[in-house]
Amino acid sequence: MPRAAAVGTSGVLGTARRSNPYADTDNAVLLTITTTHQPAADLGFLLAKNPARTQSFSLSFGRAHVYYPEVTAERCTAALLLDLDPIELVKHARWKTDDGGLLTHYVNDRPYAASSFMSTAIARIFGSAMAGRSRERPELAAAEIPLEAGIAVLRSRGGVSFLKGLFEPLGYRVTVSPIAEDDESPITSAHTFYSVTLACRKRLSELLSHLYVMIPVLDDEKHYWVGDDEVDKLLAKGETWLKTHPLRERITDRFLKHQRSLTREALARLTDDEDPEPDTPSEAGQPREEALEAHVNLNDRRLQAVSNALRDSGAKRIIDLGCGEGKLLRRILSDPSVDRAAGVDVSVNALEKARQRLRLDDMPPGRREKITLFQGALTYRDDRFHGWDAACAVEVIEHIDPPRLQAFERVVFEFASPATVIITTPNIEHNALFEGLPPGKLRHRDHRFEWTRAEFTDWARSAARRWNYTVRFVPIGTEDPQAGPPTQMAVFTETAP
Ligand code: SAH
Repeated sequence: MPRAAAVGTSGVLGTARRSNPYADTDNAVLLTITTTHQPAADLGFLLAKNPARTQSFSLSFGRAHVYYPEVTAERCTAALLLDLDPIELVKHARWKTDDGGLLTHYVNDRPYAASSFMSTAIARIFGSAMAGRSRERPELAAAEIPLEAGIAVLRSRGGVSFLKGLFEPLGYRVTVSPIAEDDESPITSAHTFYSVTLACRKRLSELLSHLYVMIPVLDDEKHYWVGDDEVDKLLAKGETWLKTHPLRERITDRFLKHQRSLTREALARLTDDEDPEPDTPSEAGQPREEALEAHVNLNDRRLQAVSNALRDSGAKRIIDLGCGEGKLLRRILSDPSVDRAAGVDVSVNALEKARQRLRLDDMPPGRREKITLFQGALTYRDDRFHGWDAACAVEVIEHIDPPRLQAFERVVFEFASPATVIITTPNIEHNALFEGLPPGKLRHRDHRFEWTRAEFTDWARSAARRWNYTVRFVPIGTEDPQAGPPTQMAVFTETAP
């Protein structure tokens, strides 16, 4: 077991523990953040924690304390100290390790090592700083400043090279001092505990986000159950840097506790926007739909909502009508419970992009056989539309001329007739809230119409009635109290004959 108190070699620990009011705390885990940006005490504004006093916080797994071992005009250090409470850990039997062992064992094994407890504490205590917000110093929060993070004891499963491989590509100067497993044991190449400093010139929000993600990745363990929302957390924190990180696959895999379906989903979402710009240029003076919607990351939320509805439906054979460049298909294919998928679009260009995005040519034959892409028009009956459990038309109906909508309706509900139909379309009421969209303009020049919520529900209810489906409506994106959500979705379920 690493005895943090016994480590004389660690500069980080040495300084911080000298002035640490909790130096006798046995289960303490320590992170320090230092800046030499002047006036250095502004770090207190950035972290929203007053340097003049110690503050303590109760967390479900113990207490956290924030204090400043050093505050001068030139240099300021904030310390976040976690005092894990073994009794709380025993009470929370649900905190289990992967091998089914209780976490008390896990924690007691190495009480000083920074772990997912530290990430949770960073999010709870420095949440606004991690999000880049500062009431008093917004311009400083947005500025790159000299920063140094010190982690007193960090476990790296993967050793120094993995540790450096995580931080160096992000522009950190990494200093690592190994820590002996106990007082007597010599330091060997097999050790896994390190005292680490990470120096950089960055926004504080970036540093905190990197720590939040990388600490549990290094530890390769988490104290809580990892579900779908963990993908959102990873993408929210890693949005700007993870996509281009050389170890993005390993980071994602470890952060999501090796749950392959979550990892696949996260990697698919990460690279959703990697493609070159779509080929339809925007009309002069009118921003493109993607740019308008970017600030709410609407595309991502829409695809997630559709994927969730598909999963709830239990569909194993899915066709994407008007699949465009294949973003939804990629998610569909990442779900191991899907047996077959097809994408149809009228545009050969879009299909070619989908083929590249899905890397169809590089797929192993078993996987390749699951997917078909073909050109077709949604307003004409086509045998290939038949025989699917679910059909989706995501942001497609508004591209169809209103007089042709009835043909589309018959092709989908009467002819293809899958058990589940999912349709999304813009809510025109929300357009007034998009900055830069001139009043009266639609979101895309190829849109033939955009509907209010009432228009969409009227159309969907009457189609459901006519073709023996029930329908429910799901808002997508941030809902405005008056204007409603930016996107509306209808989920149709065929009623038993
Ligand atoms: N579903 C995709 C693409 C939406 S854009 C996504 O959410 O990203 C609309 C797509 O519908 C375009 O790719 C366009 O080529 C296709 N499309 C429009 N009218 C169509 C029709 N009548 N038949 C087949 N595809 C059509």
